[in-house]
Amino acid sequence: MASSINRSKKMPYRLLSLRTSSLMLWLTMQRSSAFLYKPVSTILRCYPRLGSMSFHSSFSGSDSTLSVPTPQSRHFPMENSCYLESFGLKTSRFGLDPFQNKLACPIVYHEQYSFPGWPENHTFPMDKFARIAHILKSTTHLVDDTPRLLVQNEEDFFRPLDFDDIPVEEWLCSIIDPDFVHRFLNGMLTTEEARRIGFREQTARPELIQRTVLEVAGTVLTAQLAFHFGVAANLAGGTHHAHPLGGAGYTILNDLAVTANFLTDKRLHGGSTPGINRVLVIDCDVHQGDGTAKFSTLWGDDRLATLSIHCASNYPQDKANSTYDIGLRDKCGDSEYMEILKRCVETALVEVEPDFVLYDGGVDVYEHDKLGRLSLTENGIRLRDRFVVEKCVSLGIPVAAVVGGGYDKDVDALARRHAIVHEECSRVWREYRMLGYRQARSLVAVSFGRIVCAKAQDPTPKKHIEMRIVARSEAQINRTCIQGEKALTGSLPDIGQEGCLDLGETNA
Ligand SMILES: [Zn+2]
Repeated sequence: MASSINRSKKMPYRLLSLRTSSLMLWLTMQRSSAFLYKPVSTILRCYPRLGSMSFHSSFSGSDSTLSVPTPQSRHFPMENSCYLESFGLKTSRFGLDPFQNKLACPIVYHEQYSFPGWPENHTFPMDKFARIAHILKSTTHLVDDTPRLLVQNEEDFFRPLDFDDIPVEEWLCSIIDPDFVHRFLNGMLTTEEARRIGFREQTARPELIQRTVLEVAGTVLTAQLAFHFGVAANLAGGTHHAHPLGGAGYTILNDLAVTANFLTDKRLHGGSTPGINRVLVIDCDVHQGDGTAKFSTLWGDDRLATLSIHCASNYPQDKANSTYDIGLRDKCGDSEYMEILKRCVETALVEVEPDFVLYDGGVDVYEHDKLGRLSLTENGIRLRDRFVVEKCVSLGIPVAAVVGGGYDKDVDALARRHAIVHEECSRVWREYRMLGYRQARSLVAVSFGRIVCAKAQDPTPKKHIEMRIVARSEAQINRTCIQGEKALTGSLPDIGQEGCLDLGETNA
């Protein structure tokens, strides 16, 4: 076989089976016409730091009521967004309420991702982000035999923090050389640094500086949304050549590393994404994710593992050591690619046992891409995205997708290719009825107690979700209505003890 699979770092991941003893949470999903939760193998996820807890289930309900904010409108302006606010999302505007969005997963976009005045002949298509947004707002998809737009208007997108509100010092300078960050933000990079990045004199433009930071904030927000709702996608991101000391290959600040650091550092996320100790980056861009790998190596712990599936002969010439490196031969096509992808992703998920996946769905693997040397068709890209996203979701692992690279003179054709990942994330969103799963998870986690591990079982005839949690509040929650469609019954045990909640009908 022309490809090589290399696991360069040995990490002390424990075997899956050894970690099942601390299982505290069951999610039992219903299979019905309205709730198509796919059967999955008995993969168990658990969150460390749980310690031993006594086990007592308590299904007996009572009559007391707990009020959960009930969405009143299609969109959530800041002042009315109690429940989303309680998630601690880093956003300047909430998008379409995921509770009501049955068509598409949460999608993140900022209108400043693209900006005018970019050199026309530049290989990097700066306009593509705005074009992807346009494609998503103007292309219909058959959903239940009806043509539907995944995104109806700009306000459906979640928008990351505005530039001035992004905590640059905390998010960036904690893992990237502060001197580099400050010089970049002030348009003071050297000619050599700007050359290595590939943007040359454009590097100092305020619009470029701002969109670079916004892109990072977009991936952070996407990850937060994925944590709470299972799957989310950014319209930018995947700046994987940027490394701890600087930028390279059209990337300046590594959004994947910054986000992994955010997710695993409570001082940064402030409790908004609890329980994430290991992030796996699945990088399917045609170029190796060398910058992300360097962060992983530098950190030297389990927080960030990287799986890079790339074309061996593509940039960068000097490859870094990812946790897993798969260097494919030139012209590798759909079937060979998918065979290798499936094997590697499954291996990495079992061995790393991540709490969270960041997925770089670069489309420069396309057969006619200007830079990439692989030969995937657009259908191959779709199958790839579908496999990775669905695999994570089926195992109960939140997945945040970013667009990665893609190069084509025809920017609209390129944007359509990039939109595949948003379409596939949304397809999984619909098929898996993510809300039934994540809505319950989020509300229980935020309102009642800490969910410490999850197990997705094969569907059973039961028409409810059962959830076991460790209580953190003294509130006695016995019955509540969520959007009038879900009844939550059961009672919370004492603080620190485990109890069981029944989320009622799932076919919202
Ligand atoms: Zn690339």
